[in-house]
Amino acid sequence: MTRPHMLVIAAALGVAFSQTVLAAPAAVLAGNPLATASSLPFHYPAFDKIKDEHFIPAFNEGMRQQLKEVDAIVNTKAAPTFANTIVAMEKSGALLIRVQTVFYNLQGANTNDKLDAIDSEMSPKLAAHNDAIFLNPKLWARVKSLYEKRDSLKLDAESRHLLERYHTDFVRSGANLSAADKDKLKVINGDIAKLQTAFTQNVLKETNASSLVVDSRAELAGMSDAAIDAAAAAAKAKGMDGKFLVAVVNTSGQPPLAELTNRATREKLMALSLARGSHGGEFDSRELVLKIAKARADKAALLGYANFAAYSLEDQTAHDTASVNKLLGELAKPAVNNAKKEAADLQAVVDAEKGGFQIGAADWAYYTDKVRAQRFAFDENQLKPYFELNNVLTNGVFYAANKLYGLSFKERKDLPVYNPDVRVFDVFDADGKQLAIFIADMYARSNKQGGAWMNEYVSQSSLNGTHSVVANHLNIPKPPAGEPTLLTYDEVKTAFHEFGHALHGMFSNVKYPRFSGTSVPRDFVEYPSQVNEMWAVWPEVLSNYAKHYKTGAPMPKELLDKVIASKKFNQGFMTTEYLAASLLDQRWHQLTPAQIPTDVLGFEAQSLKEMGVDFAPVPPRYRTTYFSHSFSGGYSAGYYAYLWSEKLDADTVEWFKENGGLQRKNGDWFRAKLLSRGGTDDAMNLFRNFRGRDPVIEPLLERRGLK
Ligand SMILES: [Zn+2]
Repeated sequence: MTRPHMLVIAAALGVAFSQTVLAAPAAVLAGNPLATASSLPFHYPAFDKIKDEHFIPAFNEGMRQQLKEVDAIVNTKAAPTFANTIVAMEKSGALLIRVQTVFYNLQGANTNDKLDAIDSEMSPKLAAHNDAIFLNPKLWARVKSLYEKRDSLKLDAESRHLLERYHTDFVRSGANLSAADKDKLKVINGDIAKLQTAFTQNVLKETNASSLVVDSRAELAGMSDAAIDAAAAAAKAKGMDGKFLVAVVNTSGQPPLAELTNRATREKLMALSLARGSHGGEFDSRELVLKIAKARADKAALLGYANFAAYSLEDQTAHDTASVNKLLGELAKPAVNNAKKEAADLQAVVDAEKGGFQIGAADWAYYTDKVRAQRFAFDENQLKPYFELNNVLTNGVFYAANKLYGLSFKERKDLPVYNPDVRVFDVFDADGKQLAIFIADMYARSNKQGGAWMNEYVSQSSLNGTHSVVANHLNIPKPPAGEPTLLTYDEVKTAFHEFGHALHGMFSNVKYPRFSGTSVPRDFVEYPSQVNEMWAVWPEVLSNYAKHYKTGAPMPKELLDKVIASKKFNQGFMTTEYLAASLLDQRWHQLTPAQIPTDVLGFEAQSLKEMGVDFAPVPPRYRTTYFSHSFSGGYSAGYYAYLWSEKLDADTVEWFKENGGLQRKNGDWFRAKLLSRGGTDDAMNLFRNFRGRDPVIEPLLERRGLK
């Protein structure tokens, strides 16, 4: 199971905005560091010079410049050619892509009230800008005429795929609609953009407002002294001297639930988490959910689709709602059955201790750790001293990339950063040439989105002569000054996961920015990152990084064996909570406009029941009212994508094992056939070229204990 994460893809608006160095600074942007491409290496952003007030003028000027460029394309006297239309579009919008990549990356990683306000102001404007391009009838006429004679254009494979891709983008954006319907669509797109922004901001504020506050250390018994001290400091910082504040994270489950011995505290924390966005108050999201679901259903209907999920899935490797429903439906029953077996094991411990209660959602993690400790004589905290952050990164994540792909890394301190904890590395290929710049932003902050994700500040493109500047973002709690940062096993896996996305970005070797790196279908993009998780426990990698932070002693063999054995443990829970969220995401987006309910929680409960995943001790990984993946835009009708990708991932892990594992020849093959290809070909073709056949599901079933 992957951690939640988000990708900000360069073509965020569906248009390929290219990173070029040539755009002349407009007078209106005099003194604005966003006006021209950064002069730092690889056009790395000048974070020290970019101020909040630079964004709005740069956004406005960026949109104006791109519309001017589009005007020039449509008013060309010459007949449409691939170069004067499609390539010209790929080169347009350099300023806009620059400002929007920096802005959205910073807003995700390091936001403030000003940036949130800019987001609210810009998101409907950007949606309108996107419509002005994709609903431009003259531009559509040129794209269409080229598409219709594509066989006679003598295009290379990547260029032909680009033309087809543009055609699809236009059709899906409503280019074929009547003028009146185009106007309707523009209004809906603007509404969706505003609503999604409001939802995102609401969820973050509600999460911050839902912290657990208690009066005594005793109520937090089970947590480490350091964590309780941190809770005291957090309360004091909020003017609640003498109390203790424990922040909540964005999933339903909360990390302290595994430690808290006081059942009342556990129940209080779980209740706070599950009630987010649906208990009234300033940050209630129920109205927003209904409006977003309705607006998306309206959009799909206007474009001629049965529902929004059908519209969304058509462009994915899954292709339609039937195939997604089939995959999720087939797994639901065995997953819940596994979870019920696990619940019985947990209940046995409660009963043996004469607890006198039925195991509930608040108790799951705590008793799971107990069963795990019994069965594997293993406590997660035993591992942490062997997972020191810098060791994990340089001797684990980077080491594996060196063995597989020949990469080497050199930290540099001369480039500006937006937060002093952010680290920057030059990345070199095996031949010594610099390949990319890698930014590691590992620590949690209250102004940082939850979860973990990768993004790009600059995308590779040979058309533009650019190389990747990629970033990984995690949310590892920062220890007190002078203390080492010790990771959980999940955090280690997340570090490898996000670096898998980073490799996909850095290895990109494409011509057109539209296809760079991770610009692949959403249900394919998680595949390379999930594959990279395998190296976290690969013996040769693990023995290289999992060393005690004080003594340097290797992680004891028996502890390692327990880690690996315990990997299959609690799979019923993890699969069920993920499936429940995925099914909710589909349910909300498989509605017609007339079917949108009025009662959010009622619809949620009824959906979970109908799908057979209404097992109270295992709530969905996200409930509707804080399900940002689903309602903020990133993974709407697409949360199933992790599982879809995992089928490819599990099959690929088998391939690596069959071929000798951690070896350059294997890494080079994966890189050549898949990681370097970005979106230049149909995703499943890339997989087949790599694997030599279609994917099979058995390795996934085996891994999740569903056979
Ligand atoms: Zn991911």
